[in-house]
Parts: sequence; C-alpha cells; structure tokens
Amino acid sequence: MPHSSILIIGGGAAGMMAALAARQSSATATSITLLERNGRTGTKIRISGGGKCNLTHTGSPPELLAKGFLRRNEARFLRNAIYTFSNSDLLALLQTQGVETDERADGKVFPLGGEASVVARAFEELLREAKVEQIFASRVERVERKGELFVVTTGRETFTADSVILATGGVSYSQTGTTGDGLRIARKLGHTIKEPSAALAPLYTIKAPPAALSGVSLRATALVASGGGRSVERLGDLLFTHRGFSGPAALSLSRDVAELLRECGLCRLYADLFPHHTKAELEAQLLLQTRKNGAQMVRKFLQIAPIAPSLGEWELAAHGTIPTALVPFIMRHSALGEDVTWSGLKREERQSLLAVLKRFPLGSVREVPLDQGEISAGGVALLEVNPKTMESRVVPNLFLCGELLDYAGEIGGFNLQAAFSTGWIAGVHAAKKC
Ligand SMILES: Cc1cc2nc3c(=O)[nH]c(=O)nc-3n(C[C@H](O)[C@H](O)[C@H](O)COP(=O)(O)OP(=O)(O)OC[C@H]3O[C@@H](n4cnc5c(N)ncnc54)[C@H](O)[C@@H]3O)c2cc1C
Repeated sequence: MPHSSILIIGGGAAGMMAALAARQSSATATSITLLERNGRTGTKIRISGGGKCNLTHTGSPPELLAKGFLRRNEARFLRNAIYTFSNSDLLALLQTQGVETDERADGKVFPLGGEASVVARAFEELLREAKVEQIFASRVERVERKGELFVVTTGRETFTADSVILATGGVSYSQTGTTGDGLRIARKLGHTIKEPSAALAPLYTIKAPPAALSGVSLRATALVASGGGRSVERLGDLLFTHRGFSGPAALSLSRDVAELLRECGLCRLYADLFPHHTKAELEAQLLLQTRKNGAQMVRKFLQIAPIAPSLGEWELAAHGTIPTALVPFIMRHSALGEDVTWSGLKREERQSLLAVLKRFPLGSVREVPLDQGEISAGGVALLEVNPKTMESRVVPNLFLCGELLDYAGEIGGFNLQAAFSTGWIAGVHAAKKC
C-alpha cells in the first residue's frame, strides 16, 4: 500500500496551496501526495471570473474580511488564515511564476491579460517544482482512521497517510468534480455538516420578467420579503435576465434568499429604485417637481432623475438614473397614463407612484438553483475546525480547507482568496505534525 506523510484530497485552489505550503514547511524527504478526480488540477480556477479569474481583492486583511464575508462567525473563523496568507502573499507567490496582475477600480484582481489558465498553469508548475506527487483520475471514495494512520480508498487503489488534508470543495458546478464527496467523507469521520445551499446564484422568478427588460441593469436596493414579515436586502446592480435576475445584488442575496425560502416559503422580490432617498425625501422631491415643473411629463422625469440625491456630477455618474426601458413598467404599475404631467397628477396617484418607486415589484422568487451558484454555502461546521491550524477538532491529523467548510464569500475574489488562505494554513500545520 503506498504511504504518504501528507495526503491531500482535491486539487483545487485550497488543495494545491495546501500541498505547496506543506512542502515549504517540511523536509524534502516528507512524502506529499495529491489525489484529484479530474485529469488535471485547477478546474474551477480555469472557469472562474468568466475565464478571467478574479483571484483576489485589494485591501488590508480587515478590509477583505469586512467586504468579503458578511457573516460575523465566518469572518472570525477566516481571520487568522487571511492575515497569515494574505492577498499580497498570493500575488507574490504568483509573481515567482511570472504572473502579473491587474487591479480594477472596484478592487477585483485579475491576472494581466485576463486569462484564468495562466493562474492554473502557474500552480501546476509550482507543484512540479515542489515535487508533490500528483495522481489524477483518482476519486477518493473512503477515508478511515485505523490506529495512527488514515486509510484512503479510491476506485482503484488504497493509500495510507499520517495526515490527510480534505480539500474537495463545495457542491455547485458539479460537472467540475465537486459533487459533495468530501462532505460525505467528513460526516463519516464524525463531523457535523451544515446542509449545502445555493450562494452567488441567480434569482429566478416564478413568472419571468418581461422580455423587453432582459439585459437591462438597474442600480437599486433589491429586497426579498417573506409573507411572515422577514426580509433581506442588498444595494447594488441588478440585471434582468430571461428567467429572473442576476448581477452583484442578486448573486449576493441568493444565499439569504435560499434560507428564507426554506424557512418561510413564498418570497417576493422588490426593488427600491431610489435607494439613497427615504420615502419622505423622495416625496418632497416629487412635490418640488409638481411645484416647479408642472408641465413636465412624469415619465420624462423618471428617465433623467438621478437615483441618488444630487451631490454634483460625480454622484450622478456613480449612481446613474432609472433605465429608460423600465419607465413604462413603472407608469403601468402606478396606474398612471403614459403622458401624464406633474400638474395633472392627483394626490393618490402621486402616492401610488411613490410607493412603486420605493418598492417596485419584481415577482415571486423560485427555489435558488444550487448547482448554478458560483459557490455553495454550508459544509463542515466551523466550530469543529481549529481556525489557527485548520485541523479537525474531531479527528486528529485531519485538516480541512477551502469551500468544503461552512463559509461563503461575496463576489469579488474573496472565495479564491479564502481557499488559498485556508489551504496554506492546513498545509503548514499538517507539515508541523510530520
Ligand atoms: C463558474 C465559477 C466562477 C467562479 N469565479 C470566481 C472568481 O472569479 N473569484 C473567486 O474568488 N471565486 C470564484 N469562484 C469560486 C471559486 O472558484 C471556489 O470558491 C474555489 O475554487 C474553491 O476552491 P476549493 O479548492 O475549495 O475547491 P475546488 O476548486 O472546487 O476544488 C476541489 C477539487 O476537489 C476535487 N475532488 C472532489 N471530490 C474528490 C474526490 N472524491 N477525490 C478526489 N478529488 C476530488 C475536485 O475535482 C476539485 O478539483 C467561481 C466558481 C465558479 C463555479
């Protein structure tokens, strides 16, 4: 039976980084083996960021944690990992392979030239240089603890190891190899698994949005409300699609929406089209229009009014206006005639318009599609993993890292960074046990 000091299961961002960290922190004689079910490593890296790979985000570790991980316990869990192996450590490592990066204005970091495969290839080369034994087309089926050793069984072979690093990822995009094997393995070894659910997924509505709006992008606060009075919301860009909504605000909301649907049943999606105004402020603005510009058609105003209070050119450019294509739908929902002017508007009609502008109905939300999320939420319970070492608190010498763990980051490079950072910690501490 082949034996390794450290055996890593899964060759994604977390597993590859764990292998490199283990090599850097251990003697050259330490045997490190990586088992990957696909024909090569880094499958998800290659498709990430639409093939461009948004590999991390700019900012200090506290900024990364605050922007990227909205749930306090998850940010707390990742704190040590992100501080210990930060975005600059990642970029420095990639630079050793000649990978230069580009920082966008919104903080996202991509490889220069925008090719994800450059990042995947850099890791392939690093693993070769580190003399990590890699075995492909090797799907692990079972991991058992026998005395001091782990016995790891694939469809074809059995391995033994002193330490195992489980880095099998989440459960979305299952065609890339992430079918939840690692979660089943961890459960069998005694871990608690928080049931996976969709995250960073599109929101589909029961009735599709009007075809005329498909492709239209809206800056708004998207709000999803359950019948029981619970709601979740995000400010950001919302993109109409032929089945519902995508764009940063929808993707970011999807995890909360999946939970809300599970707990409360039917949920409805709304958009606050003037998210920077309170209802009273917007009402004052509508009244001002009536007094100062009574002959103006309401729809004309809606096409040009900045959605944020006017603070000069910059604010207008940053927040924009309501998309012209949406205006006829606003008029219809408010039951207003197409050519009505401010002076022709009755008080109840103004109130109706105000209500629609602050809560434009976008339809009832369907169950969020788990497999279509860029990531899945849920996974191995964080309380059962030591955040300083990524070692299991249940099974000694078992390390867990990456998306397999019960955290979920926002869009922007945070998920790859978390996988790299937790992988690094797992590798370093697995090596310390050798
Ligand atoms: C379409 C898409 C776009 C994305 N874009 C971005 C982005 O731009 N920026 C960002 O930060 N994040 C992005 N993500 C998320 C990011 O890719 C993941 O969070 C990250 O890759 C997780 O790394 P991981 O190593 O934990 O898991 P994975 O990268 O999923 O790696 C797990 C590996 O384990 C292997 N494996 C599974 N089971 C077994 C088994 N039984 N035996 C052996 N091997 C096994 C799998 O084949 C896989 O190679 C994107 C995800 C998707 C799907």
